[in-house]
Amino acid sequence: LSAEELEAGRRAYQLDRRHVFHSWSAQELITPMVITRAEGSWVWDGEGNKLLDFSSQLVNTNIGHQHPKVVAAIQEQAGLLCTVAPQHVNAARSEAARLIAELTPGDLNRIFFTNGGAEAVEHAVRMARLHTGRYKVLSAYRSYHGGTALAVNITGDPRRVANDYGNAGTVHFHAPFLYRSQFHAENEAQECQRALEHLETTIQLEGADRFAAIVLESIPGTAGIMVPPPGYLQGVRELATKYGIVFIADEVMAGFGRSGKWFAIDHAEVVPDLLTFAKGVNSGYVPLGGVAISEEIFATFAKRVYPGGLTYSGHPLACAAAVATINAMREEQMVEHAASLGTDVFGPGLAELAAKHESVGEVRGVGAFWAVELVKNRATREPLAPYGSSSPEMNELIAACKSRGLLPFANFNRIHVVPPLNISVQDARTGLAILDEALTLADAHAED
Ligand code: PLP
Repeated sequence: LSAEELEAGRRAYQLDRRHVFHSWSAQELITPMVITRAEGSWVWDGEGNKLLDFSSQLVNTNIGHQHPKVVAAIQEQAGLLCTVAPQHVNAARSEAARLIAELTPGDLNRIFFTNGGAEAVEHAVRMARLHTGRYKVLSAYRSYHGGTALAVNITGDPRRVANDYGNAGTVHFHAPFLYRSQFHAENEAQECQRALEHLETTIQLEGADRFAAIVLESIPGTAGIMVPPPGYLQGVRELATKYGIVFIADEVMAGFGRSGKWFAIDHAEVVPDLLTFAKGVNSGYVPLGGVAISEEIFATFAKRVYPGGLTYSGHPLACAAAVATINAMREEQMVEHAASLGTDVFGPGLAELAAKHESVGEVRGVGAFWAVELVKNRATREPLAPYGSSSPEMNELIAACKSRGLLPFANFNRIHVVPPLNISVQDARTGLAILDEALTLADAHAED
């Protein structure tokens, strides 16, 4: 980096510390990293160090940083028309909706655009409540659905607990997670069957005719990338249909190629009633999210007003970025590349790390969507950081990755391997090699 860039970075840091209020943080206890520049799978920090971005920021830069086709599309749209109100028609929005409808499963052909994932979840639940005339919502523990009032209440992680001011009609259940099974299951088939039985019992005990929606990440992301066992999502679909509950698949993180298919629910060949998306839809170059809506739910609002909206719904800059992103992903076969990264690089590479390092309890994932679960003891599975917080051991591991040039995504006792879908095989292997070195430090805290 040039002297000017370094100086600009220093000034940005000073102003940030003086004026910027950061998400999910104790403001004076953080030392945020300056990012001055980024390209593809790489970022440069305030000191000019180059780091491999194994986080895709918040698992959103699925096409990497500064993709030239998307940057050009945003510039072109900015020159043409920066913004219009949602009630008007706009070419970028119409084309983005067409492309998304084409990619989403089944008859999810109508697209309501939001500014991000939480709003998508909020609106999906609102649609489900109006469609069913019911109020309660089912969602899983170990899930994340967004930071707004309702979305955080649906969320099943400690961020909900910190924001709970009474019940908003949400009921939480345990989704399958064999490594930490709530059902004393010994294999995936047992975990699947018992998780479905538990879900059905929960529905019955909480009032089978009370539920508007079940909100479920097709593959839970931030909570730990627990790929559901075969049959689970089909089972949820059947229960939703049986009890007249709207099935909302939250694909905000798992969608748009992350799992090696366009949507994670495609692995199960299941069609939800509503599908929420954000992040990868345009790699977050301009904020965008939305809900893909089935024809049946669309019909509810065909002659009846949908009471909801946003000033920036279907913003032209965001939609132009989505059109260019989807086209680039198709032209450059990024989803196929993500799938082969999973089978050829991350699957075998992480299995090797698990075999080698005492601190690794389990690795799991698919495509470019992997979790490394760190433990103090492989037999007891005691996590390297307690649920809901960090630990000096995890902080040491993260620092070791960064000092060696790898920017990881970390949550509690896990490191997630979630790079851009178009990362080169060589860069993917470089990242795994750094993780390998850093894990040696974590091993020192693990008991035999
Ligand atoms: N749903 C899921 C599955 C997510 O992973 C996230 C964000 O990480 C959200 C919803 C919320 O999205 P946003 O932060 O864009 O509001």
